[in-house]
Amino acid sequence: MSSPATPLQLEIKRRRTFAIISHPDAGKTTLTEKLLWFGGAIQVAGEVRGRKASRHATSDWMELEKQRGISVTSSVMQFPYREHMVNLLDTPGHDDFSEDTYRTLTAVDSAVMVIDAVNGVETQTIKLLNVCRMRDTPIITFINKLDRESREPIELLDEIETTLGMECAPMTWPIGMGKGFRGVYNLYTDTISFFDPRAEKGTSEVIQGLDNPRLDEVLGHVAGELRIDVELVRGASHTFDAERYLSGKQTPVYFGSAINNFGVQSLLDAVVDLSPAPLARNTATRPVPPDENKFSGFVFKIQANMDPKHRDRIAFLRVCSGRFERGMKIKQVSTNKQIAVNNAITFMAQDRTTMDEAYSGDIIGIPNHGTIKVGDTFSEGENLKYTGIPSFAPEFFRRARIKNPMKMKQLQIGLKQLAEEGAAQLFRPLLSNDLILGAVGMLQFEVVSHRLEHEYSVDMVFEPYDCYTARWLRGKDADLKAIADKYGFNVALDGADEYVYLAPNRVNLQMAQERYPDIEFLETRELN
Ligand code: GDP
Repeated sequence: MSSPATPLQLEIKRRRTFAIISHPDAGKTTLTEKLLWFGGAIQVAGEVRGRKASRHATSDWMELEKQRGISVTSSVMQFPYREHMVNLLDTPGHDDFSEDTYRTLTAVDSAVMVIDAVNGVETQTIKLLNVCRMRDTPIITFINKLDRESREPIELLDEIETTLGMECAPMTWPIGMGKGFRGVYNLYTDTISFFDPRAEKGTSEVIQGLDNPRLDEVLGHVAGELRIDVELVRGASHTFDAERYLSGKQTPVYFGSAINNFGVQSLLDAVVDLSPAPLARNTATRPVPPDENKFSGFVFKIQANMDPKHRDRIAFLRVCSGRFERGMKIKQVSTNKQIAVNNAITFMAQDRTTMDEAYSGDIIGIPNHGTIKVGDTFSEGENLKYTGIPSFAPEFFRRARIKNPMKMKQLQIGLKQLAEEGAAQLFRPLLSNDLILGAVGMLQFEVVSHRLEHEYSVDMVFEPYDCYTARWLRGKDADLKAIADKYGFNVALDGADEYVYLAPNRVNLQMAQERYPDIEFLETRELN
C-alpha cells in the first residue's frame, strides 16, 4: 500500500501553474481579468485593463519604470480557486513581446490558448505554440468572441488541427453565433448553458439533458438543429483523452465570450481539473521530482526594479522542488554562493506581498543587484542545473553606436549586463568592432537604450543593421574555424562567447548551410 501523502505532496498536488497564449487582440487581457474575477481575486472588472493601457504605448515605458511595482505584480498572479492554488503567469504581448514572453512558457506546467473565433489561428499563436511544443506543454483551447459573427466552429477546429498539429477534442459545442449565439452544450456533462449577456455571469440558466423539453421551449427549432449537430460532432471529432492531452498531442476545446463572462468558469474549472500539477523537471544530472524535500528552482526572467539608481532587479524563480520559506539560505549554483533570502516576493493577485512560503509550481521574486542571471539554478546545496531554458534567435537587429566615445567601456559593461538579464542579445562580429543587438520584440531596444542612459550614463543611438536572422553554430572545431575564416563579418560571438551566424538574408543562410553541412545552425541555444 502506498503511504499517505505528506503535507508537501498535498501542497504540490493542488497547484496549477499556467500561462495564456494568444495573438494580440484575441482577448487575453479580458480573459485574464475574468479568470481573476471568477477566482475571487479581484472585485471589480477593469483592474487588469488599466494596467494594460499603461503598457500599450512605448512612450509610457518610463512611466512604467516608475511604477514597476505594478508591472511586476501583473507578471504573476496567484489566487486560490476551489481547493487549488492557481498561478497565472503573464506572457507579455503586443509591443512588449520579448524573450521573456517565450521564457515564461518554460516556467509553466500548462497553457491556455485563446483563439479569436473571427480570425482563427494567427501568427503569434503559432510562434508561442512552437515554444510550448519544445516541452510538450499541455494546452487547453478557448475559442473566444462567439458573440460575433465568426467562422464555423468545425472549420476553426480543422484549422487548429492542420496549422498547429494537435488533435482537437471539443468539450463544449456552441449553439449559434453572433446575434444568434444562444449558449453552449457540454458534451461531457450533458448540460446546456444558455447565454445571456445581461446575466451577471453570462448565463441565465443551465439545464440537464439534450432531450430536456425546456431546450425546445428556449430554443424553438434551433433545439432540433443542436441535437443533429451534437450527433455529428460526436461522430466526427476526437473524444477527450487525458493522456493525449497531457502529452501535448490533443487539446480540449471550449467555446465562449470572455467579455460577457461566458464560458470562463468552465475554462477555469478545466484548468484545475484537467491540467497537471507540477511534474518532475530535468537537470543536467538527473530529473528532480517536485516533492523532493529539498528546495530547488530556476530563474526564467529578470526585471529591473523601481529605483534605477539602485540597480535593483527582481529575479523570477520557478520553484521546482521542495518548499521555500522566508529567510532560507539557498545556493546560487553558478557562483557557489549562499544567499539568505529575507525579502522574497510572492504574487497574490493585486498586491505584491512579502512571502512566507512557496512550493513547487509557485513563483518567487528575489531582489538582487544584478548578481542573478536568467537560467540560474538555486538549490539547498546540490550542484543541480535545470536545463531547457533557451535563448531564441532574434528577429530584429540594431547596431549600437555611442555618442561619446569616451564611454565605450561603460557601454560594453552595460550591454553585457543587460544581455545577461535577457533584455536583448549582444553579438560581436569577429571582423568588426560592431556591437550588434538582437531582440525578438522591438520594445526591447527602447528598454535597453533607456536603461543604458539611466543606469550606466551612456547616451547612444541605434542604427539599422541589415540582418535577417541569427543561428547558433555547433560543430567540430575545425569546421567552426573554417566558417569563421570564410565569413568573418557574419560570424559573431554572443554574450557567452558562443559562435553565432548573422545572416543578412535567407539565401545567404542557405548557402552557408550548404557549404558547411557538418555544422548545425540552431534557432535556440540553451542558457548555461
Ligand atoms: P489581448 O490583446 O489579447 O489582451 O485582447 P483584449 O482582451 O484586449 O481584447 C481585444 C479586444 O477584443 C477588446 O476590444 C475587447 O473588448 C474585445 N473582446 C474580448 N473578448 C471579447 C468577446 O468575447 N467578444 C467580443 N465581441 N469582443 C471581445
